[in-house]
Amino acid sequence: MPEEKKEQECSGGIRMTRERVSADNKRIILNGRTVDVNQLVPIKYKWAWHFYLDGCANHWMPTEVSMQRDIEQWKNPTLFTDDERHVIKRVLGFFSTAETLVGNNIVLSIYKMVDNPECRQYLLRQAFEEAIHAHCFQYVVESLSLDESEIFNMYRENKEIYEKDEFSMSCTDGIIDENVDLSTKEGLQKFINNLVAFYVVTEGIFFYSGFVLMLSFGRQNRMPGVCEQIQYILRDESIHMNFGIELINTIIDENPYCWTPEFQEFLVKRIKRAVELECAYAQECLPRGVLGLNVPLLKEYIEYIADRRLEKLRLPRLYNASNPFPWMSEVIDLKKEKNFFETRVTEYQTGGALEW
Ligand code: MN
Ligand code: FE
Repeated sequence: MPEEKKEQECSGGIRMTRERVSADNKRIILNGRTVDVNQLVPIKYKWAWHFYLDGCANHWMPTEVSMQRDIEQWKNPTLFTDDERHVIKRVLGFFSTAETLVGNNIVLSIYKMVDNPECRQYLLRQAFEEAIHAHCFQYVVESLSLDESEIFNMYRENKEIYEKDEFSMSCTDGIIDENVDLSTKEGLQKFINNLVAFYVVTEGIFFYSGFVLMLSFGRQNRMPGVCEQIQYILRDESIHMNFGIELINTIIDENPYCWTPEFQEFLVKRIKRAVELECAYAQECLPRGVLGLNVPLLKEYIEYIADRRLEKLRLPRLYNASNPFPWMSEVIDLKKEKNFFETRVTEYQTGGALEW
């Protein structure tokens, strides 16, 4: 079939065809359209489009949140113990650089691999949100006049943070270095491993000790500006993770031959390793209990959320732990958070309606 061959050869660019793109012939990957036009409509993956709309509806900017009370509190020599200051710096030290790893992975690996237009629309939105998250920590560190060099170099000076970053980064490396061929089982598995490392582990597990620790200060009306921003980030991250899990499960459903028992076992082991790294980080952040928190409670929470992630990936639970921080589910609950965002959303809708 010489004509077919010709189509294959120029599959990198736009192809002249008589057949229009239908929702039915869209796939998440392997459409052979890496640098083709992203033809968004007809939409097949409505979930991807809705995650995009949800992300836009919750737009926020760090500099809209006042840091005044945080600055006063941080300057007060009696308001925080040394252990509490250590916790806050460790949390900021991890987040300040980890957010950029997620952005890098979207741009350097996922976007290249996922050629479905609906998913790409979401990925572009998510990449911007990661930039906002990085901005948030720059803004917090600058507002509090923290030692910028200490906070922003922590990923290379603190072993526990280094190891978490290394876990994630090695999966971006794996996709960039080798020419991953998604039409093979091995290539698909490598890519799914990357998606699990970022959407499930980095955004779904590695961020959560930091969320709990920081929001525990917020529950005592300490660091309200940082905590308001962390709540916005938590809201964004739960959308990122839910998008990622949908993406992973849809790729598996469309390519079931890659979902072998060996591969499932491999992913479970990776998640187990991630839980160990997160527990080691929690231990280092919190050598002695503060705020009614201690390492066994944090460990239980990490195991509890890891089980939730495993279930969503249709994998067996590992820990059967219960949730020691039920208040965290309230913070995460999407409906409740919709109210939390209501005024903000309205502000943006007004601000965005430009008069000519
Ligand atoms: Mn983020
Ligand atoms: Fe994220």
